[in-house]
Amino acid sequence: MVAREILEMYSIGMDENEILVHACCGPCSTASIERLLSEGWKPVIFFSNSNIYPASEADKRFAELLKVADFFHLRVIREEQDHASWLSSVAGLEQEREGGKRCEKCFLYNLRQASAKAEELGFKHFCTTLTVSRFKNSKLIFDIGEQFPLFEKIDFKKKGGFDRSLVMSRDLDLYRQQYCGCEFSMQH
Ligand code: SF4
Repeated sequence: MVAREILEMYSIGMDENEILVHACCGPCSTASIERLLSEGWKPVIFFSNSNIYPASEADKRFAELLKVADFFHLRVIREEQDHASWLSSVAGLEQEREGGKRCEKCFLYNLRQASAKAEELGFKHFCTTLTVSRFKNSKLIFDIGEQFPLFEKIDFKKKGGFDRSLVMSRDLDLYRQQYCGCEFSMQH
């Protein structure tokens, strides 16, 4: 494991333009981070994805995310995985189709984690790279995010974000996972 998981905490959250970016993986972070920087934000990356199964897959995705962080010279915070807790939050919805009720709970779980971390560290904003994926409904993510006061509705799909993420992922030679994250998404 890389010793960069929590860095320079003393200076985090003091700047109005700093934003905690919940990052689901390296590929989705590429174009999202690039756009945030171009718009004057100062991103700090937050990896908290207890939905990812197995743990080795989470480590693999985190390692790819670190490549993106290194490319942009950004700080990264990693939260410990708690897959058992995540499983409890989606109990009864295991057989839902991808994009359905289980995913709503999953978004809520991860956004709640990001919101709590943003508040804990004194950030004034947070957002998520989940909106860059063509397979994820940005409006649904915004509807869920609305309940968190620091949440910024940034649709990373816009402005060609998804296509740009493909190009950047290729350029950075990033591993691109073949399933969304949880064990139930492996079956579809
Ligand atoms: S398919 Fe993806 S978004 Fe849906 S519950 Fe699984 S990991 Fe979460």
